[in-house]
Amino acid sequence: MTSIAVIGAGITGITTAYKLIQRGFDVTVFDRQPYAAMETSFANGGQLSASNAEVWNQPSTFLKGIKWMLTKDAPLLVNPKPSWHKLSWMAEFVLAARNYEQNTIATTKLAIAARAHLLDMAEREGFSFDAEKRGILHVYEEKGEFAHAAKVNKLLEKGGLKRTAVGPEDIAAIEPTIRGNFVGGFFTESDFTGDIHKYTSNLAEACRRHGARLAFSADVTRLQSDGEKGVDVFWRKAGAATEATRQHFDAVVVCAGVASRRFAAQLGDRVNVYPVKGYSITVNLTDAESRAGAPMVSLLDDHAKIVTSRLGADRLRIAGTAEFSGENRDIKDARIRPLTEWCRTRFPGVSTSSVIPWAGLRPMMPNMMPKVGQGRRAGVFYNTGHGHLGWTLSAITAEMIAAEVAAAKSRQPRASAPEAQGMLATHGV
Ligand SMILES: Cc1cc2nc3c(=O)[nH]c(=O)nc-3n(C[C@H](O)[C@H](O)[C@H](O)COP(=O)(O)OP(=O)(O)OC[C@H]3O[C@@H](n4cnc5c(N)ncnc54)[C@H](O)[C@@H]3O)c2cc1C
Repeated sequence: MTSIAVIGAGITGITTAYKLIQRGFDVTVFDRQPYAAMETSFANGGQLSASNAEVWNQPSTFLKGIKWMLTKDAPLLVNPKPSWHKLSWMAEFVLAARNYEQNTIATTKLAIAARAHLLDMAEREGFSFDAEKRGILHVYEEKGEFAHAAKVNKLLEKGGLKRTAVGPEDIAAIEPTIRGNFVGGFFTESDFTGDIHKYTSNLAEACRRHGARLAFSADVTRLQSDGEKGVDVFWRKAGAATEATRQHFDAVVVCAGVASRRFAAQLGDRVNVYPVKGYSITVNLTDAESRAGAPMVSLLDDHAKIVTSRLGADRLRIAGTAEFSGENRDIKDARIRPLTEWCRTRFPGVSTSSVIPWAGLRPMMPNMMPKVGQGRRAGVFYNTGHGHLGWTLSAITAEMIAAEVAAAKSRQPRASAPEAQGMLATHGV
């Protein structure tokens, strides 16, 4: 049996681990956190949204971005302090505009293909994740934005998505709780929502049941490969000042979110992931009026760039903001307040007396396409950089990378690595 180390127990790492186990690989997942899904896969917008597949590399987005940079409370915030990483990423982001159409179409196709895999894994393992299969409604108060959305629709259609134009009366019928002067919207009946943290945690437990080793609180300090004899993973117990343990595997799949760039550099690859920070609030719907006044249908308010998902009867998730300020996880009140105020304006029946704020870092590639495939050296693979759509896309990219690992193995058989179990146990992981 071939041994594979998966670095990262977010949605990409855990779906990858599951798909590798299904193909008979001996899988060990490493994560510096004590549980699965504790970083970006913790409290995101919840949308499984092919309808949000448009990549952002577009001249009108660049112009809007410049305007937003000068506006207080705008959905985009760029820390003016320059860094080589940020500047090089932004230059590549602008250059990727030449592939705007093909990348939007490709993302749509991936998002549609992901749905069956995501649902199949949950069904096979018999867990629920507060899924709401009621579609996603995009709403517009400005004519120009609605007109742009109609153009995007043509690309989504080329990717195979049916997204229907709706008028203000339709919006009121689809989601009666929302308030606003909408000029129109687009409804995607086939999109749905769910709790990424519940899903990832449940699937991680399923991986464990099927024989994977979950090495939690294991901080990976370095990955090393000479391209011939597999990969060495150096790790130590998170927070401990001890020397790192070295463990050998036949192959590695890097799914480390915003840390993937550093690991890629150690393995001789360039994976230019930038941490694009976002915020969410989870509104606890503690009384009957709030539960009745909160939307059941998932929404995207295009102007505010805010998304919502109903997570079961008594939680409403609201998420937004793109902030370029490096690997900074601070939860800033100035970014949380617009989300709470948006909730009060759009849903006056919802009490915001109990709100849980959160911030996470989207691992985003400059062309907004995930990095899925083999690195330069044999035995090195990546499934990372899913940016604003990691929940939507991971189930299919996990399938793709597991197929690629299996294909590489059949081309070049390798000796099996020593059993990892004992070494993990002695270090208390
Ligand atoms: C506000 C917000 C809203 C969003 N809304 C949506 C949405 O509605 N729909 C959608 O599809 N996507 C959404 N996303 C994007 C989605 O949440 C991410 O793309 C996805 O969670 C990324 O998963 P990941 O596995 O790549 O990263 P992560 O979940 O961050 O996992 C990476 C893991 O690697 C581990 N790791 C890192 N370094 C080390 C190390 N040295 N040693 C060991 N382990 C390490 C981390 O602990 C972490 O658990 C949103 C993101 C944000 C921030």
